[in-house]
Amino acid sequence: MVAKLTHLSPPLSGREPTPPLKRGGWEGLRVGVIGGGYAGMAAAVTLAEQGIPVTVFESAKQLGGRARGLQYNNTQLDNGQHILLGCYRNTLKLIEQVGGNIEQDFLRLPLQLTLHNRFELKAPQLPAPFHLLVALLTAQGLSFSQRLQAAKFMLAMRKIHFQLPLDMSALALLKINMQHIDLIELLWNPICISALNTPVEKASAQVLLNVLRDSLNGSFSDSEMLLPRLDFSALFPDRAAEYLKSCGGTVRTACGVEAIVPNNDGIELITAEGAQQFSHIICATSSANAARLFQPISELSLTTQQIDALTYQPIYTVYLQYPPHVKLPHPMLGFDRCFSQWLFDKGQIANQHGLIAVVISAEGLHQELDHVQLSQKVVAELCEQLGITELPLWQQVIAEKRATFSCEVNLNRPAHATSIDTILLAGDYTAGDYPATLEGAVMSGLRAANAITTSPSLVAN
Ligand SMILES: Cc1cc2nc3c(=O)[nH]c(=O)nc-3n(C[C@H](O)[C@H](O)[C@H](O)COP(=O)(O)OP(=O)(O)OC[C@H]3O[C@@H](n4cnc5c(N)ncnc54)[C@H](O)[C@@H]3O)c2cc1C
Repeated sequence: MVAKLTHLSPPLSGREPTPPLKRGGWEGLRVGVIGGGYAGMAAAVTLAEQGIPVTVFESAKQLGGRARGLQYNNTQLDNGQHILLGCYRNTLKLIEQVGGNIEQDFLRLPLQLTLHNRFELKAPQLPAPFHLLVALLTAQGLSFSQRLQAAKFMLAMRKIHFQLPLDMSALALLKINMQHIDLIELLWNPICISALNTPVEKASAQVLLNVLRDSLNGSFSDSEMLLPRLDFSALFPDRAAEYLKSCGGTVRTACGVEAIVPNNDGIELITAEGAQQFSHIICATSSANAARLFQPISELSLTTQQIDALTYQPIYTVYLQYPPHVKLPHPMLGFDRCFSQWLFDKGQIANQHGLIAVVISAEGLHQELDHVQLSQKVVAELCEQLGITELPLWQQVIAEKRATFSCEVNLNRPAHATSIDTILLAGDYTAGDYPATLEGAVMSGLRAANAITTSPSLVAN
C-alpha cells in the first residue's frame, strides 16, 4: 500500500469545507480525471486542494458511480446499501474535508454482528485488543472451545502482523488454524463475504487479514460500523464537486470520455462535446471501461491484459417499503442460512420509516431467481424469521452483476502507474491492500494524485 493511513481529525459540527492549500509551482500541469466515482473524486479533490487545475469527466448524469444515490417511487435509495467501517480513515477524512460531518452524516454503531436467533458478537468499549478478545470470548451461538479457537486465531495473526509468507484461500487459512466449521459459517464467512464480496473458498486470505488488521484488530472506533444517513452521491461526490469548483476545478457530468489520445503535448481526451488537452490523466472508471479506453493504446496492453483477467462478483439489494410502523430489532441484522444476508432498517438509520434494505453479496443460488421471485423469497424470510406478516407496499431489486472484482488468491491487480507516465489508473480494483471498497477506491485516487504531484519531472521543475 502506497498511501499512508492518516488519522481522522476530531469531528466538528456544522463543518465548513477545509480551504484549499493553494501550493504553487504546478506550471503546465493540467489534469483530466475520467470517472466521478469515489476514486475519481478523491483524486480530483487531492489535486485541486493543491491548486492544480482539474477537470472531471463523468459519463452519467450524476456523480458517485457504484456508490450513487437514486430515486424510486419518490424515495431516496442507493444503488446498493453500503456500510463503512471506522478504519476507513481516508474516506472519512475526505468527507470532512469537503464539508461533511461524520457524527451527523452517519449512524455510528459499536461492532455488533447479530445473526438472528443464531449468533451474536458484541464488542464492549474497552481498549484494543481487549474489546475484540472479550467480544470473541463472549460470543453467543458458539461453544466455549469454538470461542477460544477464534480468539487464538486473532492472537496468532497478530503475532505474524497479519502478514502471510504466501497467499492462500481464506478457508485454507482458517482450517490450518483449527477454526471449527460452525465458527467459519457463523463468523468468518459472513465477515469475508461482507468485506471481500467473495466466499471463503475463493477469497484471498491475505486481503482478509488486511481487513481484519485494520478493523477488528484496530481500536474500538476502528471496528465501529458507520451507516450513512444520506445517500452516497450526497455524502461525498456532490460535496467534492462543489469543493472542486471553489478551487477553480470543473466537473462535467453526462460527458463520457470516448477516447484517450497520447500526443507530443500530453494527452487528449475526446468526448462528444469535443477534445481537450491535458498534461496528465487519471482513468478512474470501472475496470471494464478502463480496459475499453486503454485497448487501442498499444503501450497500455499489459494493463489492459491485467484488467481483462479480473473476474467479478455480484451484489443484490432488495428494497422493501413496508408501512412506517414496521421495524427490525436492530438497525442492522443478519440471517443465517437464508438468501437474505444482512438487513438494514432505514427507519432507524435515516428516518425512512418502514424501508428495509436487504443485501445479498457474492455469487449464489439467488442468482437463479428473477427479481419478482427474489423479492418474494426475501419477504417470506422476513415473515419466517421476524414474524413480519404484512406485505411491502412496493419492492425494488437492484442487481449489480459486476459489483466488485472477485477478490481471489494471488490476484494480479493493475498498478496505478502505467507504461505512459502521464496516464495514471485509479479505481477500487487497482493494486492495494484493500478489497473493492469505498476505502480501497479512495486510496487508489489518493495514490494516483500523489503520483502526479511527486513525479520526478515536476520535482525537477
Ligand atoms: C451494491 C454494492 C454494494 C456495495 N457495498 C459496499 C459497502 O458496503 N462498503 C464498501 O466500502 N464498498 C461497497 N461497495 C463497493 C464500492 O461501491 C466500490 O468499491 C466503489 O464505489 C468503487 O468506486 P470507483 O470510483 O473505483 O468506481 P465506480 O464507482 O465504478 O466509478 C467509476 C465512474 O466512472 C464513470 N465512467 C465510466 N466510464 C466512463 C467514461 N468513459 N467517461 C467518463 N466517466 C466514465 C462511471 O459512470 C462511474 O461514475 C459496494 C458496491 C456495490 C455495487
